[in-house]
Amino acid sequence: MITLKNISKVYGKGDAASTVLHGIDLEIKEGDFIAIMGPSGSGKSTLLNILGTLDVPNNGEYTFLDTQIDSLSTDQRALFRRHILGFIFQGYNLLKKTTSLENVEVPLIYQGLDSKERKRMATEALKDVGLEDRLYYDPGQLSGGQQQRVAIARAMVTRPKILIADEPTGNLDTKRGHEIMELIRTFNQQGITVIMVTHEDDIAAYASRTIYLRDGAIEKEVNRVS
Ligand code: ATP
Ligand code: MG
Repeated sequence: MITLKNISKVYGKGDAASTVLHGIDLEIKEGDFIAIMGPSGSGKSTLLNILGTLDVPNNGEYTFLDTQIDSLSTDQRALFRRHILGFIFQGYNLLKKTTSLENVEVPLIYQGLDSKERKRMATEALKDVGLEDRLYYDPGQLSGGQQQRVAIARAMVTRPKILIADEPTGNLDTKRGHEIMELIRTFNQQGITVIMVTHEDDIAAYASRTIYLRDGAIEKEVNRVS
């Protein structure tokens, strides 16, 4: 579904330039559950941001199905991002003083849906993550695990094909972390492709493929035998 060919990323210019990704080749199939691991600074978030089109590579090719993502305009990339990808982050990134329902409605506003349809879909998505009784709570009234569930509902409400997660359990205790992973696994079992960065082996264990980065290159890949 996704092919990365010889992707590189350089930050800075001249003497200050540093190459943080070089020669990344990666093939991702529909339905894959991928964990990206590696030391701090090895380029995990940079790779995830390129996959998520939040960042662009300096070199190489990024194709999704038949579309060459690296040659799209900024607007076309934004469309791809909004319709194909869903994102969750370590810090949840919810709007403060805004209800769960309104937070989950945000991507649907970008899609131009009317208020009634937005509410219906957002309520459904919050039900799917077990928060039907927290629709009118704002993030300040929710636990970390609940906030991450709202973020997952917001990511999934547009029915993306790919879920991109940068350390989704990084701020959670072990029990809540596993609850979030169970939820992500459920979406993967429904056919959503998951690409996740984590530092923890027991979180990476949910993935079917674990890719280890070191100094901006893929050091090895370990596949789970199932
Ligand atoms: P961590 O585990 O700490 O989150 P990471 O593997 O996600 O690390 P990246 O955030 O991808 O690492 O960063 C890789 C390298 O790129 C680091 O050396 C970082 O300093 C550098 N870097 C990241 N973003 C930028 C930027 N916008 N400008 C300059 N350098 C950057
Ligand atoms: Mg990172």
